[in-house]
Amino acid sequence: MEPAHLIDSLKLKDHVAVVTGGSRGIGRAAVNCFARLGASVVVNYARDDGAAKDAIGEAEATGVGALAVQADVSLLADAERLIEATIRQFGRVDFLVCNAGIWEGSPVDQMTEQVWDRTIDLNLKGTWTVCRAAVPYMKQQQFGRIVIVSSTAGQRGEADVSNYAASKGGQISLTKSLASELGPFGINVNSVAPGWVDTDMCADAFARQGFRKALENSIPVGRVATPDDIGWPIVFLCTEWARHINGEILNVNGGSVLCG
Ligand code: NAP
Repeated sequence: MEPAHLIDSLKLKDHVAVVTGGSRGIGRAAVNCFARLGASVVVNYARDDGAAKDAIGEAEATGVGALAVQADVSLLADAERLIEATIRQFGRVDFLVCNAGIWEGSPVDQMTEQVWDRTIDLNLKGTWTVCRAAVPYMKQQQFGRIVIVSSTAGQRGEADVSNYAASKGGQISLTKSLASELGPFGINVNSVAPGWVDTDMCADAFARQGFRKALENSIPVGRVATPDDIGWPIVFLCTEWARHINGEILNVNGGSVLCG
């Protein structure tokens, strides 16, 4: 392939990306990466209208179409409303990034039922709800790319947040199941599994005395990921360069956890 065509094959013009939890952190970075490659973007969020408004402003500045949709994706009816709003505005849904998530927990013998349910309902069920809502449209199009944002915790476990690790492990088996189920319909399903990323989610942990330094010393590349470090691999999995990748768990962790 000629270099110019190679670059063209990375462009996502005329495609539409929906990112759950797209208003902040990793999701916001993915929204920006999609927009910079020319895809229209739908920014889903739960509570923070201001952050969502900023996110679509940033995307629109690149010249693409952008829409913010408030929806609690732990609820199927909200997920359906999100995808219907996408179809009304843009007529299709090419890329779905299942990213919205929370990280809260406690030792198992102190964990409340509410904390267990809240985590599983958003991180795991909230991945299924948006897939449930988007896949019928992707099947009609005979094209789709789904990227599920899991975590190293889903592969190696994580003490004191077993609820979170279980939700992330569930996302990984969901990825593999949907990859074989939907591949015949032109829909690829993959997961990006980040290690530590500098977002609001980890701000309290990073604020603990000495924590960040110790963490950086344990990461072979010597630093915590930026949101963009995760956003680009998410978007890569939606490009033509990744067209034969299906059912993959792409670890993006600076080499801190070497698991496949
Ligand atoms: P974040 O900065 O806390 O952002 C979370 C996003 O999710 C926000 O846009 C938030 O919107 C949205 N959200 C929260 N509850 C929602 C709901 N019920 N429905 C729809 N959207 C909702 O998080 P992040 O660090 O970017 O994490 C994103 C994903 O990466 C998560 O799945 C997380 O498990 C995974 N991950 C993160 C790390 C890390 O170190 N940060 C590491 C591995 C994996 P509002 O602001 O409106 O509530």
